[in-house]
Amino acid sequence: MTNPNPLRVLFISAEADPFVKIGGLGDVAGSLPPALRSLTSFSPAGEAESPAQMDVRLVIPFHGIINRNNFRISRLTSVEVAHTSGPLVAEIYQTDLNGLPVDLIGGDPIPPFAPVYSSDWGFDAHKYIFFSLAALELARKIGWQPHIVHANDWHTAAAVYWLSLHRQDEFFRNTATVLGVHNLPYMGVGASFPLESFFLPPAIGSPLPVWAQHLPLPLGLLSADHIVTVSATYAKEILTPEFGAGLDEFLRSRTDKISGIVNGLDQQRWNPSVDAHISVTYSADSVRVRDANKAALLNEIGFVNQINKALENHIPLLAMISRLDYQKGVDLTVEALNKLASQASKSAPSWRMIFLGTGLPELEQMVRKLEQKYPDRIRSIVRFDAPLSHRIYSGADMLLLPSRYEPCGLAQMIAMRYGCIPVARATGGLNDTITDAIVNKSGTGFLFSEALPEALMRAIYNGLDVYSNQNRWRAMQRRCMQQDFSWEESARRYQRLYYSLIKKGENL
Ligand code: ADP
Repeated sequence: MTNPNPLRVLFISAEADPFVKIGGLGDVAGSLPPALRSLTSFSPAGEAESPAQMDVRLVIPFHGIINRNNFRISRLTSVEVAHTSGPLVAEIYQTDLNGLPVDLIGGDPIPPFAPVYSSDWGFDAHKYIFFSLAALELARKIGWQPHIVHANDWHTAAAVYWLSLHRQDEFFRNTATVLGVHNLPYMGVGASFPLESFFLPPAIGSPLPVWAQHLPLPLGLLSADHIVTVSATYAKEILTPEFGAGLDEFLRSRTDKISGIVNGLDQQRWNPSVDAHISVTYSADSVRVRDANKAALLNEIGFVNQINKALENHIPLLAMISRLDYQKGVDLTVEALNKLASQASKSAPSWRMIFLGTGLPELEQMVRKLEQKYPDRIRSIVRFDAPLSHRIYSGADMLLLPSRYEPCGLAQMIAMRYGCIPVARATGGLNDTITDAIVNKSGTGFLFSEALPEALMRAIYNGLDVYSNQNRWRAMQRRCMQQDFSWEESARRYQRLYYSLIKKGENL
């Protein structure tokens, strides 16, 4: 029997795969709402399960980049958003994602020619505040009273702030708010004027630092009923000066409202047993088959010495698939590899490395130069190439992830699912998804603590050492491939959180 009053979640995001995806937020918003919707039971911690279904709506902006031909989109209604220049009209369109209702919001502040994120901060702030408030007005217009408004990052934090300023609003009287933090340092600079023009005043006199009192993300952090970061370690890290982006002291005063729930991984998109991009498909039971993929990859990137092909395959192949950004520690990798290469001697272990990434021009230059310096060891492929990324995950031996900070991170989970062993800094989601094989017999990777090239080098050496024992290596690959990174467990944790926030008196 279906519950006549299911828990209703309004999930608001700037992007959601498969409609539009720029980064990790798009993955989460495309995967979590369907995962929430497919839960059919609820079990509070330690208690028996009972049947329960959630009613979830996903709301995203109708960005110009969304390909209308790929989805059945129809016009639903229009709403007005209050603005000092007079009400602004939002046009609401509707489609669905395997049954999950998806609303797309258009209107003058979201012109079709505008990129999802531009370099014009004031423009983006106006767009996303309009979008956030229109999402709430949409719920009101169709009489769909959410128990939870789940906003994400600075783009939609204004919805959370608006709700806290309108606690007396009859329609939203039973609505609790959750703010997802996918990347703390992006707070919505340039939003001061747009916020006020949508009647959202700065939080003067609040516990926020003065510089943060008129920025959307801090205002959301101030007013959300609960804050969720995308990993448990990141939830702790943002309380420290190193990761807190200036808000650590304020966040320490809200610790009871902060928790971390690690993201899952799309199990269909990333599946080596059916992946059409790779030479040979395989599973944990047939991990040796990866050798064929490695050989094909070496060939593709021009690393094969035709005289001794078999020997080539035994040289460990390292890889990095990443945005080329300081956050990702690309500079640390280049420095570490420079040192490793210069130490190379007959007794030192051999290795090769492939970079796949685009990003900051200076880092692109840095990886290109490294290839020029060590053409026999390094390949630097400076482009975005999703099919090639699949072939690297399925053929390389280790993936380097020396991130300075990593709220969750997907690449390490993909790597493990493909039997490519992560060598990573123990931060954020990397710390929560990888177990170090040096301290733990059932480890799944090699972790290091300090964001220093020497620390990365040591972790690479640990990896090369284990690699030289092929039985141990294969066992580690199998363990990696058997990890459960599905969305179901994370969705259950969100479900538990939502139920814990339900306003008293609600009969669900
Ligand atoms: P972030 O979202 O911070 O960039 P994640 O690890 O969460 O980092 O996700 C990165 C995703 O982008 C992974 O799926 C990775 O494979 C992919 N990726 C990064 N750079 C490239 C590239 N140059 N070509 C193809 N895929 C890439």
